This record gives sequence, C-alpha cells and structure tokens, in this order.
Amino acid sequence: MSISTPRRLGVGLAAALAAGSLVATSTAGPSSAKGSGSTAHGYGGAVSSVDANASRIGLEVLRKGGNAADAAVATASALGVAEPYSAGIGGGGYFVYYDARTHKVSTIDGRETAPAGITHDAFIDPATGKPYNFTPELVSSGVAVGVPGTLATWDSALKRFGTRSLARTLAPSIELARKGFVVDTTFRNQTLDNKARFAAFPDTAKLFLPGGDAPQVGTRFRNPELAATLSTIAKRGPAAFYRGPLAAEIADIVQHPVKDPSSTLPAPAGSMTTADLAAYEVRKQDPTKVSYRGLDVYGMAPSSSGGTSVGEALNILENYDLGSGPKLAQSLHLYLEASARAFADRGAYVGDPAYVDVPTETLLSQKFADSRACTIDPDHASTRPVAAGALDGSGCATAKHEEKADTENVSTTHLSVVDKWGNAAAYTLTIEQTGGSAMTVPGRGFLLNNELTDFSAVYDPKDPNRIEPGKRPRSSMSPTIVLKDGTVKYVVGSPGGATIITTVLQILLNRIDLGMTLPEAVAAPRASQRNAAATPAEPEFIKAYQDLLAPYGQVLTPSGDQFTSAAEIGAAATIEVDSHGKLTAAAEPKRRGGGSALVVWPTKH
Ligand code: GLU
Repeated sequence: MSISTPRRLGVGLAAALAAGSLVATSTAGPSSAKGSGSTAHGYGGAVSSVDANASRIGLEVLRKGGNAADAAVATASALGVAEPYSAGIGGGGYFVYYDARTHKVSTIDGRETAPAGITHDAFIDPATGKPYNFTPELVSSGVAVGVPGTLATWDSALKRFGTRSLARTLAPSIELARKGFVVDTTFRNQTLDNKARFAAFPDTAKLFLPGGDAPQVGTRFRNPELAATLSTIAKRGPAAFYRGPLAAEIADIVQHPVKDPSSTLPAPAGSMTTADLAAYEVRKQDPTKVSYRGLDVYGMAPSSSGGTSVGEALNILENYDLGSGPKLAQSLHLYLEASARAFADRGAYVGDPAYVDVPTETLLSQKFADSRACTIDPDHASTRPVAAGALDGSGCATAKHEEKADTENVSTTHLSVVDKWGNAAAYTLTIEQTGGSAMTVPGRGFLLNNELTDFSAVYDPKDPNRIEPGKRPRSSMSPTIVLKDGTVKYVVGSPGGATIITTVLQILLNRIDLGMTLPEAVAAPRASQRNAAATPAEPEFIKAYQDLLAPYGQVLTPSGDQFTSAAEIGAAATIEVDSHGKLTAAAEPKRRGGGSALVVWPTKH
C-alpha cells in the first residue's frame, strides 16, 4: 500500500476537543502474582506472554543460545501447561516469523480442521431440527472439536526456523507439568467459570475439579498426565500424537463423549477419525502485508481474517491525519468506523482459501481501502451494520451482505519473541473458548478444542465461512510483525476472539498515531467495534471517551461476554525494538491477572 495524500481531519472540531489528551488508565509496571513484571527494557532478546512461567521458560531458551522460533515453541508449550484452558496440544493457532538473515516474514497456518465426515447440518440438533444452543450445548461437544494443529505447528516452526529438537524444546514444560505451578486468581476463576461444563465430563472433572472444586489460589496444580503425554511426544515426535494410541483415543472420545450420567448436557458426538488426525498438515503461506505510515505490517492470511482485517483497517486509517490532543476524538471515531468496515468485509469475503475464493489481495489493496474510507463520514457515525465493500473498489460502492451473529469469545493466548539476531516470532494459539470443548482425552492431561464453533452455525452456500468437510473455520487471530526499513519494529498479538483484531489495531493506532509508548498502548482501555450499532468497550474507555465520542453519534456499551464476568478486552503481549536495538517487552499490566515481559540483559553487553 502506498501512503496516500492524507484526507485531513475535519477542521471544525479542534477547540471542542482540546481536553482529549489520551492516557493509558492503567500504568505499566510490576504486576500481579501471575506476572513477573509487565514491562521490561533491555537487550539480547525478549519474551512477552501472559504467564510468568511461560515467559521465563522462553527467556531461558534465548539465554542459552536458542533463537526466536525455539523460544516461541518452548513458551507455547509452557502456556499449554500453565494456561491449559487457553492453549495446548488439543488446539491450533497461527505462527508468524521474521528471519533476520533472509529478511523474510513467513507464516504457519496451524488451524484446526473439520473432519472429513462432518456434514453441513452438524450443528443442527436432530431432536429439534434447530441449531444447538451455542452455549453450553454446542461448545461442550465432540462435534465442535477440530483436528488439532498445535503440535504440527511446533514441529514445523522448529524444522523451518529453529535450531533445537522438539524433545529439547518440550523439556522445560514437561518439568513444569510435573512440578506444577501455583494457582492464581485467574486460573481459579477460569475453572469456576467452567465448573458446570467440566463437571459434566468425569475425566475433565478429575483433572481440573479435584475434590469437586476448582483448585484453591496458592495451591500447586500438577498435571503428571500431561507431563507423560509430552514426554511420549518428545521421544517419538508428532507421530505420537497424530498416529497410534493417542490418535485413537482422541478420535474415540470425540466420537463417544464420556459424560457424567447426571449431566443434562447433550454433548453431541463428532465424526473425527484416526485418518483425520493422520492427514493433518499445517499450511505454509505468504503473510499479509500492508504499509502504514512508512512501516510494513505483516499478518496472518486466511484462514485467519486477522491479517486482512487489521490490514484493511490500517489502509483505511491511512487516509487520515490521526493524533492525540485536539485530534483525539475524531481519531477514535475513525478507528471505530474503519473497524466496522473491516468486519463487514471479512464477513462477506473471508473463509478458508482452500475452499472459497478469498480476495485477499483486493482486501489488502489501498484502492479498496480508499473506496471504504469514502463511505466514512469524518464527523458522524454510520448506521451500522454497514454493508460490505464492492470488490472493484469503484467509488463508494458497497455490496449487499447480511451480517452474521458474532459467535466468538474471549479465550486464547499470544506470545511475542525477539532474539539477539533480530529474528522475531508472533504466535497466537488457542483451544477456542476458555476451557475448549470441556472434554479432556482421558488420562492424557489436556483439553480438546471447540474451534469448529467458529464456522457459521447455519449452513448458507453463499457464506465463505460455511461448514465443509476438511475445512478450517475462519479465525480472528492476528499475530503481527511490523518492520521498519526491513528490521523488526513491533511484535504484537492478543487473545480475545473477534476482539483480537480490534485489540491489535488499537495497540498499533495507540503506538503509531496517538503518541503512546508501547506499554501505555497495551495498558490503555479498549473498544471493539465489530460492525454493530453500539461499540462494546471496557469501563475505563467508556468513562474516558464517552463524552468525546457522543458528538459523533458513537454509542459505547459495556463489554463482556456470556461466558465470563470479565469486561476486559484482550490480554496482549508485545515487543518493540528501537533504532538502537533496545527492546521494550510489554505484556498486560492487569488484564487476565497481568502478563510477564522479560529481556535477556537489562543493559547493553
Ligand atoms: N476461535 C477464535 C479465533 O480463532 C479464538 C478463540 C478466542 O479467542 O475466543 O479467532
């Protein structure tokens, strides 16, 4: 994308908005029990994640000479132990990697796939002829489980970019699973949020509800079964997961969910077979790329909608001169409007490119973005949902599209790594909602995902995200690497379902346009406009900006989902490299209990 002549912000607003200097309401700094500190500055490599044990394990890899890919896989496997409701070998994700030697950004699509035997009506309850209730029925089922891609992603990342074996990389998380970690409030609350679902599956209850309750804060949670599973994989490689006894057990539990007899959950069975597991492959594909304010922004191409949506919104925003102070209110208004359009277009056009013709190039083109910016009134909120853009990018044309309900939720986890050579990894991984399908593989210590709920629930042959055998459901995960003059400037990503896209976008906007430091950009309160009339926003955002945005007709509404009581949007993990090579690792100071950012050396060596 080229930098177009800015269409300047509307002139009449400056004085009225003078009060609007943007501040992060939570300051970055030493954080809660869960984190070891949410901001770190220094050299020699950095790791940022939501968990102190995971970041520590990743940093140790860097300290001992491993590169960013080695550290990312080690951190991810530790997250599978310490964040078992968000990540692990039962799930999938997207890995974006910058190789400092070749100056190339590459990606791995490790998304879960639908089994070959899935039918278009898989989410319809045969008893009623209507779709299963989304929660707790559909989300707690075998039919929602996709063929996991996480282990294949780790294997591929190490083989393509890493320097270490899978066995060596898994060793610290095997030890973590064996020795355990100290339960914090976040882990206990996540368990309690899932208590009814976990109790419905005896194998899950045994693991995560010992004695019938969520583990108490301050106690040690050990998972020897997971340690044993990871040890087997370390010895035998990914085949120990995708073939043989474990694959048979996964297929069996998906096809025959084992329920507590007293549970009323229907737990519909899935069709996954050992052949589906044996056939799983990650996909290599080009990253998405847009230029924004002279930076090159690389993201994840479909099957995730992350790269195209963040990219399109940035291209739209490049039409405007954004900033803090007097420009702040209008900048936020335009951020919301750009997001709405990016969501309209992902809904209309993005699905698994192996099954639908996704116009990725067009969605990332400046011409298309300009035709979308053309539909934005710089002073007034549009009537939402807005229609999708016409792909020929002609003027202000729009295409007719009916917006589907947003069924994603707020789970997942993200890690960012930069090493001393300048390589970088942005890796977002998930088992879909917090607690995944609530089904563990008996005796194996890990939860299976419920990623297939990311397909549209009702089959529509015109919908790019319609359910199909072997297809990958559309994701919002947005691992992002930003380069300046060919070297890494920012590594950004977040959990949060569909809010991932707006969180990544808002962090970039905060940092690049609104004058915040990276820790401030991460800590700042968030709003997530996903093409709905009102914009869900964190309470601090509403408090700070409601009055500023009201004159534009923007309506804010408290964020939160049906699964948890938390109103927070995202729990990001980021890194910045300045022009002298100094690293700033910035994880969340508060959200999800606070994250952990570490650097190898606090001073230059
Ligand atoms: N299923 C979501 C996605 O792929 C991730 C899970 C979540 O964050 O809720 O975008």
